[in-house]
Amino acid sequence: MRENTLAIHAGYDGNEFGTMAVPIYQTTAYEFRDAEHAANLFELKELGNIYTRLMNPTTDVFEKRFAALEGGAAAVATASGMSAIFYAIANVAEAGDNIIVAKQVYGGTTTLTGHTIRRFGIEARYFDVYEPEELEAMIDERTKLIHFESITNPSVDVADIAEIVRIADRHGVLTCTDNTVATPVICKPIEHGVDVVVHSASKYTTGQGLAIGGIVVEREGLVEKLKGNQRYYHFNEPDPSYHGLVYTDLPLPPFTLRTRLALLRDLGAAPSPFNSWLYIQGLETLPLRMRQHSDSALAIAEFLEAHPKVKKVNYPGLKSDPNYPLVQKYFKKGMASGLLSFEVESREEAQRIADSTKLFKLVVNIGDSKSLITHPASTTHQQLSKEELEAAGVPEGLIRLSVGLEDTEDLIEDLRQALQN
Ligand SMILES: *Cc1c(COP(=O)(O)O)cnc(C)c1O
Repeated sequence: MRENTLAIHAGYDGNEFGTMAVPIYQTTAYEFRDAEHAANLFELKELGNIYTRLMNPTTDVFEKRFAALEGGAAAVATASGMSAIFYAIANVAEAGDNIIVAKQVYGGTTTLTGHTIRRFGIEARYFDVYEPEELEAMIDERTKLIHFESITNPSVDVADIAEIVRIADRHGVLTCTDNTVATPVICKPIEHGVDVVVHSASKYTTGQGLAIGGIVVEREGLVEKLKGNQRYYHFNEPDPSYHGLVYTDLPLPPFTLRTRLALLRDLGAAPSPFNSWLYIQGLETLPLRMRQHSDSALAIAEFLEAHPKVKKVNYPGLKSDPNYPLVQKYFKKGMASGLLSFEVESREEAQRIADSTKLFKLVVNIGDSKSLITHPASTTHQQLSKEELEAAGVPEGLIRLSVGLEDTEDLIEDLRQALQN
């Protein structure tokens, strides 16, 4: 099946009632046929539903459909994008280990890796996404994961995925891509050798700013990278918390299996079935929406580039953008998603513009059908000094746009009047 078909059908082929839409299985638990059935499920002799913290039939459709769209083997849905990222890290790293994270990542990922996991004894080292060769000197025998974003939020940089994967693979280290901004419609990191893909489903997946969620997707064949790899000894040795189960000995994708059996079991950031149902509705139109978000964002980027009050526009889909060659290499059909930023003369000017738009709503979110505008220096990056802002690639006059699905002309008119005021 091809992408539009997968987005609409993967993971669900009707049920005994003939319900066309995927039902919402709003339940905590499931009745076992008998005591032996229950025992078999717990022992994984038979696969089936036990408890919604671990699995749910509605969530299962979402997981299968998302895995199909990413070209992965399996997926585990989580309650948020942040919990998906945390689980990807916690699945491989423990006290004394380190992970390597791109400098240009989502703010929550920076605080998670720089502060929260540090308190658990896991060190994060940071590399410049434009300098993947920095990884060579950073990798040691306790390095468990290399994490980066395909398109970074908010700086709109693009990763040279194959180059990062090449270095990681030489050392047998797992790679994890946050593909939230690109979505599988625009970029499929697994096709370029990435091991694990994570998402905030809160953004383009629901597509209408409706629910918080996340997902972890594992590539086909990851077991071969883990099997016998001392770096990941805990995938190769009996897990005492699961009757001595050895994850790499089972005929099931080991990364997602361990995320489900150990992390969802013990940490419990499971999505609600209702939210899974919302993500499924979102996926059905994802390919159509990403086309429109991308086309509209490009037209707006071109308009801004030609505007005298605009100093600089960052949009990887623009031919003049330094990321354009990477877009040609990694992104599908000329799309570059709906996120862009532009710079005006001063902080005051940027704030005035953010206050003057009518269609672009002042919101710190992305991936909504409604167009959104933010001034990072006074909100998400408020604690940084002028110098720190420059270093983080967030100058005071920078404005970020998440281009929605309104008519492009209406959005351009809105920006034109806001810039003129
Ligand atoms: C929003 C976002 C997250 C966090 O996801 P939540 O669902 O809000 O927890 C992670 N990564 C990126 C790139 C994001 O944009």
